[in-house]
Amino acid sequence: MKTLRELLTKCRYKTIFNNYYKLFLKQKNLSNSAIIEADLYLSKFINSLKSLPPNGNSSHELHVTYSEGEYGIHCDVDQKCLDNESHCPYQDKIDLLIRHDFKISDAELSAVILYYIAQKN
Ligand SMILES: [Zn+2]
Ligand SMILES: [Zn+2]
Repeated sequence: MKTLRELLTKCRYKTIFNNYYKLFLKQKNLSNSAIIEADLYLSKFINSLKSLPPNGNSSHELHVTYSEGEYGIHCDVDQKCLDNESHCPYQDKIDLLIRHDFKISDAELSAVILYYIAQKN
């Protein structure tokens, strides 16, 4: 199992953004300037996440789901899903172990988690 911090260290930014674009931006038919803005925002957001101090003492795991064409993320404790995420601010999710029950590349997984975390930011 891996953490978001490990994924963000391992994957090239460009590859993450390409997946983010493919999964979440493409269908919005954004203008070029809006795509550039999203690119800058994501790159800054990733840098701010990577600069957070290590936070490895949570009992939570980050569960990434995919069902009927929709991704989702939430916390698990002892492999039981918690529906309410307010206990766990986005800053705390960078070092949670990630679970997923479907096949997905590291760059896609990074893009999915970033998308949902950035929405709460
Ligand atoms: Zn779960
Ligand atoms: Zn949590």
